[in-house]
Formats: sequence, C-alpha cells, structure tokens
Amino acid sequence: MVFAFDHSFYESMEGFYAPATTAMPEAPKLLAFNGPLADSLGVAIGELGADELAGMLSGQKLPDGANPIAFAYAGHQFGHFSPQLGDGRALLLGEILAPDGARFDIQLKGSGPTAFSRNGDGKAAIGPVLREYLVSEAMAAMGVPTTRSLAAVATGDRVQRERTHPGAVLTRVASSHIRVGTFQFFAAHFGADHVIQLSDYSIRRHFSELVESTNPHLALLDRVIGLQCSLVARWMGVGFIHGVMNTDNVAISGETIDYGPCAFMGRFAVNTVFSSIDANGRYAYGRQPQITHWNMARFAEALLPAIHAIDPADVDKAKALVDAIPARFRVIWLAEMRTKLGLGQPHKADEQLIDALFGELEQHAVDFTSFFRALAQLLRGDGAMLQALLPDAEAMAPWIADWWAQLEREAIAPLERADAMDAVNPLYIPRNHQVEHALEAAEVGDLAPWQALLEVVQNPYVVRSEWDAYAHPAPAEAAPHVTFCGT
Ligand code: AMP
Ligand code: MG
Repeated sequence: MVFAFDHSFYESMEGFYAPATTAMPEAPKLLAFNGPLADSLGVAIGELGADELAGMLSGQKLPDGANPIAFAYAGHQFGHFSPQLGDGRALLLGEILAPDGARFDIQLKGSGPTAFSRNGDGKAAIGPVLREYLVSEAMAAMGVPTTRSLAAVATGDRVQRERTHPGAVLTRVASSHIRVGTFQFFAAHFGADHVIQLSDYSIRRHFSELVESTNPHLALLDRVIGLQCSLVARWMGVGFIHGVMNTDNVAISGETIDYGPCAFMGRFAVNTVFSSIDANGRYAYGRQPQITHWNMARFAEALLPAIHAIDPADVDKAKALVDAIPARFRVIWLAEMRTKLGLGQPHKADEQLIDALFGELEQHAVDFTSFFRALAQLLRGDGAMLQALLPDAEAMAPWIADWWAQLEREAIAPLERADAMDAVNPLYIPRNHQVEHALEAAEVGDLAPWQALLEVVQNPYVVRSEWDAYAHPAPAEAAPHVTFCGT
C-alpha cells in the first residue's frame, strides 16, 4: 500500500463534496517525484518504478484505497462573489497520517473534469504544474507555510489554452483543502447547521485545542486571522506576491495555496503586480495586508451564523477581531522585518527605520532579495555587494547609518549577527527570468533547467559559488514580467 488512506472528510462531511473520476491520460510520464517529502509523510513507494508512479499519480490507475472526491466551495473573486466554484480541476484521493500523526490531503490537480468544472476542461498544462511544484517547494525551503508538491506527471495529452500545451497533473499535499470559500459556500446555500458542521470539522482537524473554548467558532476566527497575518507577513518578507488572493484561495490552515500567477519581486516597488488578470493591482505586493483584512471580514461573515448560535453577544467580538487586523498584522510584520534586519529586541526607533526602508528601496529600485544579504555582507566588512545594488555611493547612506546605530544598541558580534541574518534572508529565490527559462525548456521536453533551478531554490540560504547566476536579478528587467493565470 503506497498511501494508507483515511477518509475523514468523506466519511463525516457528506453533502460537502461530489464524487469524482479522473480522465484517462494518454501516456503518463513521471516528471518529478519528491522523495524527501514522501519519506517525511511515510509514503512508501518501495520498489515502484517511475512508470507505476506516473500511472498512479496521473489518474490512469489510482492508488489502492483512493476514494476520489471534489470539494464544493464558493469565493469572492476580485471582490465579486461567485456562489458556485469548487474543485473544477482537482480531486482529493484521500487523507494520510504522517508518522507524527499529522493529517494531510493528497490531491491530484489537473486530472480532468469534475462536477464543478463548469466550462473548464479540468486539466492543467505543464508550465503551471511545474511552476507550482517549484514555487511551493521554494516556499517550504524558506519555512513559509505552504501546500507541498509530491509529484508532477506529464499526461501525454495536449491541453488547449491560448495555444496547445503538453498536459500534466500535480500531486498536491495540504494539511487540508478547506478554504474561506468553503465556508462561504455553505453559509450562502445552506445556513447555520452546515457552517457549524464545517467549523466543528475544521477545529477537530486543525485546532483541536479550541474545542474547549466558550465559543469555538469565534476562537476559530481568531486563530485563522492570526495564521493569515503571519502567512502574509512571511510573504512580504520574501517579496512574494500571490497574485490571486481570492477567498477561495485562502486556506484556513494558514498554508499558501493555489500558485497561479504568483511571482517574487525583483527591484522593489510596492505596487508590483505580475498577474496578467490583475489590471487594477488589487493583489499588488503592498496591498496584500489590506486584502487579508478584507478576506478575513468575508470569513467572519460566513462564520457568523455559527458564532451567533453559541452566543449572540459574540457577534460583536467577531467584529472587534476583524477591526483589529491591521494593528495585529503590523505587530507581526514588524517582527518579521526586525529579524530580516538583524535587529534584536523591539525598540521604538525600529518602526521608523523599517517604515523608511521601503521608500528608500523603491526610490533606488533596489533588488529586494539581494538587499538583505548585502546588509549582512556589510557587517562582515564587505560593502561591495551593497554598492552594486545602489545607483551611487551616497544612496541610502543616511538610512544605513541609522540601521547601524540601531544595531549598536545591542552588543552582538557583527559576524554572529550577519550569520543570523543570512539564515533568514534567502539568497536564492525563484527569480522570474529563471523560472520562465526553465518552464520554456520543460515545455519542449528539456527538464534540466527546471531540475537545476529546483535544487537551487530548495537550498535558499547558503552561498555556493557555482550558483552565482541564480543569485542576481535579470541583467536588465526591460520587459516587465507577466505571469498568466495558471490553468
Ligand atoms: P483558481 O484560479 O485556481 O483559483 O481557480 C478558480 C476556479 O476555477 C476553481 O473553482 C477552479 O477549480 C476552477 N478552474 C480553474 N481552471 C479550471 C479548468 N481548467 N477546468 C475546470 N475548472 C477550472
Ligand atoms: Mg483556486
């Protein structure tokens, strides 16, 4: 048995999903398999070869014990409510329990139409599949909460988009696929009983310590708000732009989910948007905290019937939790930035320093990722890396002097501080030009650049001279980078 499936959602949440089947792939071929992840999950592939894995993880011959279902959900997409979304190109094979007892969903993404596909084909093209694999594994390596990628399999079929592409299926691992939009679906179509059932399931599965709360649904809201604030602060810290922060793409587990037109920022600009479908910049880098506030307000609305059922007076408490999000986010984000800057204990002058940084980075169009590594180099007595990022020797000099003065409040040896900074500030991220190059090559059958890039971004912190080309922004970012919605 490769997966020792358990089916808690299927068994206890009837009415919240539809049974699903996979499309038969033409000629499945394994593109990637995440051995270390399989080991950590206790997934035993034993003697299975690449062809058997490819068949199993493309829908050709499902693994023993699988019980495929597609989840129902709704969602606010770019601010507009879509009452009926659901897994249109994904299905859950089942859940597994890792050796430490943690429960995970094993999902195939791109395995053909389901009851929720509307007019879509339920398929995925190789580019978005390999992008999600690469970026989610990079995020995991940087310690950012995320769904993981267990495998990518080419189907041998062609998928029609603006043109045709080779098709592929991603095996996604998530601590669950319950989204804000899942709550919205049951709040919109069914009302309190279903919301309570979903909330109870979510609490049992993710936050069992909340069962004893006076109002567990209110406690769930509080917990999810905290997790989303922490998640987005981590995104901001690594320059990540999700690109489609619709409520159906917000997992209540606090993991990053649904890697579509996401990308990492190069030269800093707070309004950076990469997604071709986000013309108004709704999901720009700097708007992600506000959008989190907005999304959590939608989550609170969906949960209200459950919160109210326990105690009508708790509705005001829910409102207060939502109102407090900007302040709550700022505390978490300041802590994230302090760590990146090598600042130790919070101090009131930090806030000004951190706020001022972003104006400086923007004014001088500084590469966001390299900047923090360059600061650590400065602590080691090497200013060359920083100089190379700045237009002239005087640029940012006053800010650097302020930063230095802040550091000196604490007696920490510069080298020790530099090492601590390098341990949290990635040197190697999936840079857009590298990702595009790797995906273009993979599209025509050459996986080598993608495999090389994957290895690099799975090891984000420690310098390797042979990886120098991966540590820099594109030579000239002449054409702005654009990513397309990853279907
Ligand atoms: P996403 O852009 O991944 O957040 O997807 C938004 C919604 O569209 C979800 O309900 C997806 O299941 C659905 N969807 C996206 N692509 C496809 C497709 N190729 N076929 C069917 N449904 C899709
Ligand atoms: Mg989605």
